Amino acid sequence: MSERRTLIAGNWKMNGSVAETLALAGGLADKLKAADDVNFEMLVCPSAILIPAAVSAVKGSDIQVGGQDNHANAKGAHTGDTAVSMFKDAGCSYAIVGHSERRTDHGETDDVVKAKAVAAHSAGLVAVICIGETEAERDAGKTLDVNGSQIAGSVPDGSTAENTVVAYEPVWAIGTGRTPTSAEVQDVHAFIRGELAKKIGDAEAAKTRILYGGSMNPGNSKELLALADVDGGLIGGASLKVEDFWAVAENA
Ligand code: PEP
Repeated sequence: MSERRTLIAGNWKMNGSVAETLALAGGLADKLKAADDVNFEMLVCPSAILIPAAVSAVKGSDIQVGGQDNHANAKGAHTGDTAVSMFKDAGCSYAIVGHSERRTDHGETDDVVKAKAVAAHSAGLVAVICIGETEAERDAGKTLDVNGSQIAGSVPDGSTAENTVVAYEPVWAIGTGRTPTSAEVQDVHAFIRGELAKKIGDAEAAKTRILYGGSMNPGNSKELLALADVDGGLIGGASLKVEDFWAVAENA
């Protein structure tokens, strides 16, 4: 059996109110507390302003809370950004960096993503580093090249399985209802683990969790989560309802 504990992570993006966050996080916490033999770790990543609501709602459960994106700098003149110390202080243990929506909307390069991951590590947060090819890159047969170069460029040297999770999220699969085939997902994940090994060594790469993200839902998660090199999911749309997210987790 793999020593990598399955991570079921919800990326709540720019959704929810305080009341909705309390209900969603609280509903998941109730499910987790009532469950026997839980073989996964659950993480929820609300918008920064909703983190206190989520943290209070999951209190007493094992659900982890994460930030969606942190600035690379420790503090200072960065209007609208959030520092890692603020996430840590608010009760977070993870931070997502390099999401394709950040790479696209904010022009974030691999260097920027790496600097954000370094900052997350320095605060004791686990960095969930997102990578993935666009549809045009896939169509041009560049899937492995793109993911290989994003691993090389976005993962800090010296990262460990303790402080880093990689999320493979084909950009064309996010929010579209489309996914690669299971064989394609496994091939890319195995490739990513190999590229990770070049960066952080075989032993750490073997222990590092690699999540699949992109239209994962209750219907397709059982097959995806059963793949040898898939160690969990980063889930957007299907993480916004207690029943759907819980159904995905139960498929772990
Ligand atoms: C995401 O954006 O991280 C994601 C995987 O979204 P969705 O599940 O909605 O495709």
